[in-house]
Amino acid sequence: MEKIVIVGAGVAGVNAATKLVDNGYPGELITIIDMGKDPYNRKPSEVMEGFLGAGGWSDGKLTYHTAIGGQMSKYCGEDKAMELFDQVITNFKRFHPKPEEVQCSDPQSEPDFIKPYFGLRLFPVWHVGTDYLHEIGKNWYDYLVSKGVKFEWEAKVTSIDFKNNIGTVIVPQSDLTHTFEYDRLMFAVGKSGIDFGKQLADDYNFPTEPKPVQIGVRFEAPQKHFQKLIDISYDFKLYRKFDNGVSLRSFCTNNNAAYVAVEETYGDHSYNGHAKKGEKHRNNMTNFGILMEIPGIEEPFKWSRDLVKKVQKDATGLYYSPSRRPSSTSEGDTVSAVSINAQQMDEVREAFQGYYSYIDDFIEDMKKVFPTLAHDWGVYIPEVKYLSPEPLVDYKNLALAQFDNVHFVGDALSARGITVSGAQGTYVAEYILERFCTVENGSYICEWDNIHGDVVNW
Ligand SMILES: Cc1cc2nc3c(=O)[nH]c(=O)nc-3n(C[C@H](O)[C@H](O)[C@H](O)COP(=O)(O)OP(=O)(O)OC[C@H]3O[C@@H](n4cnc5c(N)ncnc54)[C@H](O)[C@@H]3O)c2cc1C
Repeated sequence: MEKIVIVGAGVAGVNAATKLVDNGYPGELITIIDMGKDPYNRKPSEVMEGFLGAGGWSDGKLTYHTAIGGQMSKYCGEDKAMELFDQVITNFKRFHPKPEEVQCSDPQSEPDFIKPYFGLRLFPVWHVGTDYLHEIGKNWYDYLVSKGVKFEWEAKVTSIDFKNNIGTVIVPQSDLTHTFEYDRLMFAVGKSGIDFGKQLADDYNFPTEPKPVQIGVRFEAPQKHFQKLIDISYDFKLYRKFDNGVSLRSFCTNNNAAYVAVEETYGDHSYNGHAKKGEKHRNNMTNFGILMEIPGIEEPFKWSRDLVKKVQKDATGLYYSPSRRPSSTSEGDTVSAVSINAQQMDEVREAFQGYYSYIDDFIEDMKKVFPTLAHDWGVYIPEVKYLSPEPLVDYKNLALAQFDNVHFVGDALSARGITVSGAQGTYVAEYILERFCTVENGSYICEWDNIHGDVVNW
């Protein structure tokens, strides 16, 4: 058996470890290193780091379609992808304190009132809820610890020597560094580790797959304006595509108790959103990203980063509204953003190099479809999905071309959501299991199954 190190205790890493120990892989041989905290000590403001990663403090919307949330079916085909999604959703229910409250919305047809302005992408979504995610995190963590999985918290991996299977960790609180060795490594650092992934890709000159730019704003308005669409599809995805390949979609809709969240990447601020469950958090707001996908930009990663830098003021992002002020976070603070006026919006339009007109048009058309909206909305600028160049991996196990014992998973590879990230982690775990096990009638028969009763020093 192999010593497995998982860098990142996010959705991908945690699902991978779960799949392994569920099937008897010795937990003592699995170490998960994360720069955040365990679920008991992680604060609500630590949005991106710690047990279950960004997924653990998100809105808990588990999308259930291969066209949503990043790439899975390109590696393993549609049927296998859906089977992996099922495993991830089952895990979230399994550690849920009230699994019966996990519900699925599954809109079936596009309503006439959005035509001819928008299309609506229809797909099922399982709703877990932010509040329950914290409890799920604790139950899930306890399970992995009970299986012997070792965790290193508040420890940041700063370099990995893929040739010699050695990584270096810094513990920022003490400023001490140490190294770790591995036989197999899962690189599951999510968005918060995107710069680290890029640094490794540059250092090792990984072959990569090209990516489009994905950028836009986080739109926020009172929920009542969108209610008739929310009744049909909670996480609605309004969609449009132009002949030049540019497409726009509403993205990650939050309702009822909907809060805008600041994301910090590369030291700049951008925006996202999450929703809480429970009446005490209700603010009757809706927020969603209006995201543009722009193909054909040379150096899309650099282009996005430059744009994000241009729309920062006083070390944070911007807010524009014809009538409103920025809202409060779920902790009661004002969402960090500098409010700008209509004239200053021209600077934003300049930074977007002409592409902002697509967002202006999107909002104008929403005002037609939802007539009460009028001026009762605001945008937090920017929302960005940094699609860093995706390292080229072996599709059968997501291992790097040059290093077949190093697997990239989750947002660090090509995922953009919880279900796909978890599925990628599970997919790699299945590959590892199949190295030591045979599959009979859907169950793993493994070499460790014969070891009973004895104390085994792994
Ligand atoms: C506010 C918000 C709301 C969201 N809502 C949804 C939603 O409702 N539905 C959905 O499908 N998706 C949502 N997402 C996206 C989703 O959370 C991510 O796609 C998913 O969590 C990615 O999983 P991952 O395991 O790849 O990375 P993550 O879950 O981000 O985990 C990565 C982990 O790696 C750790 N890490 C990073 N770098 C290092 C390092 N150098 N050393 C050690 N540890 C490191 C981090 O601390 C983190 O814990 C949301 C994201 C945000 C930010």
